[in-house]
Amino acid sequence: MIVIRCPYCGEDRQEDELVFGGEAEIVRPIHPEQVNDEVWTEYLYFRNNPKGVSHEQWCCAAGCGQWFKILRDTVSHDVIDIATYCGSLNAGQAA
Ligand SMILES: [Zn+2]
Repeated sequence: MIVIRCPYCGEDRQEDELVFGGEAEIVRPIHPEQVNDEVWTEYLYFRNNPKGVSHEQWCCAAGCGQWFKILRDTVSHDVIDIATYCGSLNAGQAA
């Protein structure tokens, strides 16, 4: 069971109280009408699936409802860092 402390409400939430939102910081093309199908398809469908440190977004669904970002090791499930959606994550520093 993954336990993550929400950076907004400060509560420790278990995995089933959160919603996993996938890879964080996917950047939508600024002018989608100007990109080709390959770039648009990459934006819509392709995500990294690392074995190791993963940059993810989660929602505090059972609590405050805010989205936030974490760095998590996908092998050990250790949460390396947590940040608000506008904050920055620091790889390698404990939360
Ligand atoms: Zn919260």
